[in-house]
Amino acid sequence: MDFSFTEDQKLFREAVKEFLEKELAPKWDKIDEEHWIPTETIHKMGEQGFFAIPVPEEYGGQGGDFTSAAIVVEEVAYHDPSVAVAVFTLLNNAWPFILYRYGSEDLKQEILPLVGKGRGFFGIASTEPHGGSDVAGTRTKAVKEGDYYVINGEKIFISGVRESMKQLDLGSWFLIARTGPEEARHKAISAIAFIGNKNGKVPEGFEYSILNTIGRHGISTGMLTFKDVKVPTRYLIGEENRGFYYAMEGFTLARILVAAANIGAARWALERMVEWARTRELFGGRPISSFQGVSFPIAEVAMELEAARLLVYEAAWMADRIYIKKEPGLKPKDLNFYSASAKLKAVETGFKAFKTLMLTYAANSYVKETNVARGFLGQLSYVVGAEGAQNIMRYIIAREVIGKEYVKG
Ligand SMILES: Cc1cc2nc3c(=O)[nH]c(=O)nc-3n(C[C@H](O)[C@H](O)[C@H](O)COP(=O)(O)OP(=O)(O)OC[C@H]3O[C@@H](n4cnc5c(N)ncnc54)[C@H](O)[C@@H]3O)c2cc1C
Repeated sequence: MDFSFTEDQKLFREAVKEFLEKELAPKWDKIDEEHWIPTETIHKMGEQGFFAIPVPEEYGGQGGDFTSAAIVVEEVAYHDPSVAVAVFTLLNNAWPFILYRYGSEDLKQEILPLVGKGRGFFGIASTEPHGGSDVAGTRTKAVKEGDYYVINGEKIFISGVRESMKQLDLGSWFLIARTGPEEARHKAISAIAFIGNKNGKVPEGFEYSILNTIGRHGISTGMLTFKDVKVPTRYLIGEENRGFYYAMEGFTLARILVAAANIGAARWALERMVEWARTRELFGGRPISSFQGVSFPIAEVAMELEAARLLVYEAAWMADRIYIKKEPGLKPKDLNFYSASAKLKAVETGFKAFKTLMLTYAANSYVKETNVARGFLGQLSYVVGAEGAQNIMRYIIAREVIGKEYVKG
């Protein structure tokens, strides 16, 4: 049993921190206020090797693993606790890996090197207006006509829309669309690499809009609308009607990094509440930390954070054993329990950490200048949704523990 990182991993984390302390920490609040991650920052992150980490170098990735990706995402979220830049980072690690795993050679070469350099975006477009949890109920249609799919439908709450369409050379998504009858549910869904923007070129019939979100403003959340959009069939990822299965693998991997983002932001919150509790004095010069009503909730956050961190890195370690080291006998589905548990715990811990931070700061949390609420509203995006609702994590865990046939809805 060994709970420590390797020397290489420790050095890697230090290098990541050094970069982020200069590049991100001084401007994360400005990024949130101005709804814009500077393009230069994205490019620099690309040069640092923050994107497509688990993708092999021959496809423009970093040839790394999920543990390194989790370290990067945790640190990015610590240095931008609104988690906007962390979301940009985690999407551009998990979904490029799925494209690498299932995409054709041409598709990989078209998309992955740009994502790796911080010049492109490859996110996930799954959620639809009627509800995000029921991916098998996808209504967006892709009908094959000769060498094209004709796409009609609507996606909502999609991250990275402004960045894809206005900021980068390439904006693309792992698009989930129905390629067969609705009754066939998950067995008639395909994955298409949809390019919304390539050097300013936007497909005919494709429109987008940006939603007015309450937080995590640095990265946009938007809507994608498809009206007879023609996409060449070579943009199909893997086999037709297997998209649901690829998507589930992608979500399972992305959740580990979502969890990493949450522990990074929670660590920032913990440090702030400790500092405030030590320095704010009341009742004749006593630090508020001398009141157990203040110090005990902080102790609980510290304990929960440690538990969440262990789950996050256990899940990343499992992902590496399955996907990077390819240990015999392990399958992608062996990751389900670990990934869902890490996300469930890390998001709850993040929420508790920010709630405790708000209460420790009291009225001072209610002004923008202290940046406490900025972190709270960003983290909240993961409490309400994104990469699967928390109840869906409970469902996955129940299915793994009790058995699929016993927990069917
Ligand atoms: C800021 C933000 C960014 C996002 N980015 C993306 C993105 O990039 N790409 C993308 O595709 N989506 C994205 N999403 C959408 C996100 O993945 C969805 O919010 C999520 O899948 C849940 O879907 P929903 O919000 O429609 O809730 P619903 O599916 O309508 O669920 C509503 C409630 O019912 C509960 N529920 C649903 N089914 C069950 C069940 N079987 N058992 C128990 N409880 C259940 C849920 O837990 C939830 O509380 C984003 C969301 C946010 C808030």
